[in-house]
Amino acid sequence: MRIGIIGAGISGLAAGFRLARKGHHVEVFERDDAVGGLAATFDLDGTRIERYYHFLCGRDDAYIDLCRKLGLASRIVFKKARTGFFYEGREFPLTTPLDLLRFTPIPLSQRIRFGLFALEARWRTEWRQLDELAARPWLIDRLGERAYDVIWRPLLTLKFGAQHDRISAAWVWHRLHRVARSKGRHGFLQGGADLLLDALTGQIREHGGAVHTSRPVARVVADGGRVRGLQLADGEVFECDRVVSTLPLPLLAGMLPEDDSPYGQALRSVEYIGVACVVFKLARPVTRNFWLNINDAAVATNGIIEYTNLNPLTPAGGHIAYVPYYLATDHDLFRKSDESIVRQSWDALRRVSPKLSDSDRVAYRVFRSDYAQAVCTTGFLHRIPDSRAPIEGLRLLDSVYLYPEDRSQSGLIVRAFECADALREEGR
Ligand SMILES: Cc1cc2nc3c(=O)[nH]c(=O)nc-3n(C[C@H](O)[C@H](O)[C@H](O)COP(=O)(O)OP(=O)(O)OC[C@H]3O[C@@H](n4cnc5c(N)ncnc54)[C@H](O)[C@@H]3O)c2cc1C
Repeated sequence: MRIGIIGAGISGLAAGFRLARKGHHVEVFERDDAVGGLAATFDLDGTRIERYYHFLCGRDDAYIDLCRKLGLASRIVFKKARTGFFYEGREFPLTTPLDLLRFTPIPLSQRIRFGLFALEARWRTEWRQLDELAARPWLIDRLGERAYDVIWRPLLTLKFGAQHDRISAAWVWHRLHRVARSKGRHGFLQGGADLLLDALTGQIREHGGAVHTSRPVARVVADGGRVRGLQLADGEVFECDRVVSTLPLPLLAGMLPEDDSPYGQALRSVEYIGVACVVFKLARPVTRNFWLNINDAAVATNGIIEYTNLNPLTPAGGHIAYVPYYLATDHDLFRKSDESIVRQSWDALRRVSPKLSDSDRVAYRVFRSDYAQAVCTTGFLHRIPDSRAPIEGLRLLDSVYLYPEDRSQSGLIVRAFECADALREEGR
């Protein structure tokens, strides 16, 4: 089979790797000038790091297995990393059960309920009934009003804005479930995400395939209800009999032969939020925590991720801190200039660590993505469009298909392999 893949993020490269190794001719087309998508890396003042923070959880087996297959197993490192909570000007540790018991912003009875709730989330497997439930009343019922207001409300409102009241309890449950199963251990690929991205790209090429960068796809070409190829933005057509799209669903809708078809409309109806993320390189640390949740009236982000508290990088690497803002893409802040977002983020870091001075700010960059993640509101399960398009030979990969799981590279590798295997079955 000849297979065209749209997008060279982890999904496109993993699917391409699986298909190329089974002897199919694979070509991957990427719009950007580098592979990696949301997991791509860049150089920040001599330190190679990811545009957006990434870590592994203990149960990210597919990611770990893939690294093993590619000879990278020894590069996977897991560690206990600290989590904290910055509440109204004060930083609290929140890593261990004892930290939770000492977390005075919420009453003791609700701290205990929170601990029991986290345990239950870890062991729970049935989630379908949670799909129809909104997270807010579910969390208030299980934890208490004050615990919701302090811990969950800022997370949901800052991330989902006007939609925060409609987020499904299933989505919230799985976030807790994933982290609880990881037992405080977080992992990373020593040497950076490039190791995996380059190994996958190399394998596709070694098996006779190609990975093209700076080659955006404009349209999926179909004829008689069957895929015939991909038309690139420069007009060239890559002829193939199977296509895997790894694009956010509304973007793909605009590339279909009939983009106002019911299927195209279903793809467009899936809403996403964007992310603007500032990455700082600092001469001194902000916090001892890897992950610092924030609920503070003066700070408009719900967390700071000080990545070097998990992965120290090299001594010359400085301290790397990410300040993400999840926003609707028409939100004022998303549209603000980089300078203004950096200023706001710098103020947030200084609010947490007043000792920071301007001379500690070594370098910074701002990254934005219009499609950081889908907004999984109640009843989402039944609104997910079929990953097998009504055009024969076209398959979709996107983190939407992980629901109720949150987006994760490991989950996408599982889906990419399943998608590759289904295409091979079809081609027999
Ligand atoms: C802030 C943030 C933090 C995250 N943290 C974690 C984490 O800790 N752990 C974890 O496992 N996951 C995390 N994720 C999720 C993870 O990054 C994504 O789920 C994963 O990288 C998505 O991979 P993908 O290949 O499906 O999509 P993408 O990476 O979005 O790849 C799609 C590709 O398609 C390309 N493209 C777009 N249009 C075209 C076109 N017309 N033609 C050709 N190519 C095109 C894009 O440039 C892109 O490279 C995080 C994501 C974000 C945003």
